[in-house]
Amino acid sequence: MVWKRLFGKAETPVETTPVLPQPDASGIVRRQRAAADPAMQERLDTLRRRRDMAAYDLERAESARQPENPWQERIALLDHSLATIEADLQALDAIPPLTPFALPQMPLTGVAVSLEEPVSVDFSVGPEHFRWEEEVDWDQRGGPIVRGQLRQLSGDVANILPADVPPERREVLLRHLAESVNVLAVDLRDRTLEGEPLPAPITLADLARPCPQCGDWLDWLGHCATCAHRAWQRQNLRQEAARLTREREELEEDRYKWSERLSVARKRFADIEAEIAAVETG
Ligand SMILES: [Zn+2]
Repeated sequence: MVWKRLFGKAETPVETTPVLPQPDASGIVRRQRAAADPAMQERLDTLRRRRDMAAYDLERAESARQPENPWQERIALLDHSLATIEADLQALDAIPPLTPFALPQMPLTGVAVSLEEPVSVDFSVGPEHFRWEEEVDWDQRGGPIVRGQLRQLSGDVANILPADVPPERREVLLRHLAESVNVLAVDLRDRTLEGEPLPAPITLADLARPCPQCGDWLDWLGHCATCAHRAWQRQNLRQEAARLTREREELEEDRYKWSERLSVARKRFADIEAEIAAVETG
């Protein structure tokens, strides 16, 4: 494939490769002429190797002037990928927001943080009791205190899910609430450690406020997992587009550089040919 020849790693013929007789256009291998003066044979071999390289450069420069060329083939593939990325970005922006579904303003009760080891966080939603305890980190060798993970010991968000949640959104809401109660527990612990008063009152609605962007839910700290995921997808797509655009520009530059080299490449090839002819005939 021409492409591989033009853009492969071994672009430059190696000087030490012995010059073997190559088949001509009709597929016949002809013995190459020896130098008229045997003392010039080494010079002739060198010239022939140079001619091979000059022919390669000339072919490449000529191909860069053709409307269809290896650079253009690759650019067409890149353009196709860029169009796909653009369509993916538009599809992300076109996702219609979900109908907001708010949870009841039902206050959490028994909100308490104990700094006695192990540090614990408690609250209830209706009859459902939630509790976390900090895992004790025995490996604190006098460095800055790294808080242990809060581990949830009790409470199941399935038991606090309102009955009127649309069936197709139950699973997502369950996952959201499971995450949101943990975010709340960590925030309550951190506020207590900082000596800040606990926010009051906290309601079930605060754990899953509808996201104004996508209609999904915000956690206790106002973070929307769906929007974050889409932002991450957009960022990846834009980075990929930027990478492909750079590659496209490099290809354009490379093709231009080779097309500008055509007259020099022609002259160089002709000069070597003439020099070979002179050494062959003496
Ligand atoms: Zn959102």
